[in-house]
Amino acid sequence: MSPDPLDTVAGLLAGADSVALACHVGPDGDALGSMLGLGAALRGLGKDVVASWGGDPFEVPAAYSFLPALDLLVPPTDFPAAPPLLVTLDTGSPDRLGSLADRLASAACVVVVDHHASNTLYGTVNLVDATAAATVVLVEQLLERLGAQLTPDVAVALYTGLVTDTGSFKYSATTPAVHELAARLLATGIRHDLISRAIYDTAPFAYLGLLGGVAARAALEPAAVGGLGLVWSTVPAEAFAESGLGLADVEGVIDVVRTAREAEVAVVLKADPLEGGWKVSTRSKGAVDVGLVCTALGGGGHRFAAGYSSSRTADDVLAELRAALASAPHLPS
Ligand code: MN
Repeated sequence: MSPDPLDTVAGLLAGADSVALACHVGPDGDALGSMLGLGAALRGLGKDVVASWGGDPFEVPAAYSFLPALDLLVPPTDFPAAPPLLVTLDTGSPDRLGSLADRLASAACVVVVDHHASNTLYGTVNLVDATAAATVVLVEQLLERLGAQLTPDVAVALYTGLVTDTGSFKYSATTPAVHELAARLLATGIRHDLISRAIYDTAPFAYLGLLGGVAARAALEPAAVGGLGLVWSTVPAEAFAESGLGLADVEGVIDVVRTAREAEVAVVLKADPLEGGWKVSTRSKGAVDVGLVCTALGGGGHRFAAGYSSSRTADDVLAELRAALASAPHLPS
């Protein structure tokens, strides 16, 4: 029997003096929470830690500015050229590392810690569990093996990943074990109410106007997805320009669009200010595997939440997606 990857990774971390952590570009709550939570705990164990992502601009989204251990972050240009131990978190494939992808070849050892079903297993050691609700779940298991203390700082970071990747404990991946982990984190005394308020219930006033535009542009296609229904909308470049908001500020837009009862699948096309083209976010309510659909279109994700990027026009993106969704196999209910 092959050794438990949790033991293998815990052993590698225990034996390392310095660890370089990286997460995916455009980091979300789980990417930042798993990276900074692990980073804070490893620093507590006396290790040299740096953390980064290969993004430009290199800026922590305002909603996550409360996270601990932000001083571990270094811009990708200052990231070690050949780290002895590189750990990637919440990152399903090398391209999601952006400008840090070249470190996969120069690092002496690469550990992949992730829960994406689409993970391409690109590490020397892969701690990948698609049944985990969030990458922070795997980080907590690692910390337990390491005998690392669950400090309030570590707990804030891990709770952030847990609450965001479960949609505030609403998604189907929210198991009893998820709530047990949340209980362990809350027991450290963290202010979960302030965390949720910062992430979900705080936005610049301009967000209301942007949401108004998204709602006005929303379209319902009842015959799409084999008759299960599709609802879609867009956040065009003008909406970003008018509101002064960025991609990281509109993560929650899809959660508004997906409320349409008549649609199994929700889609939001967000103009990509850096690359041009569109960032496409998709959600399914459980009957269709949008993870497979998005992986086939060059992206990745989970069964019910996934995305990809496209340089095509919005009309072409939608036509291609309609066709892919029409032929997507329906999951057993
Ligand atoms: Mn995640």
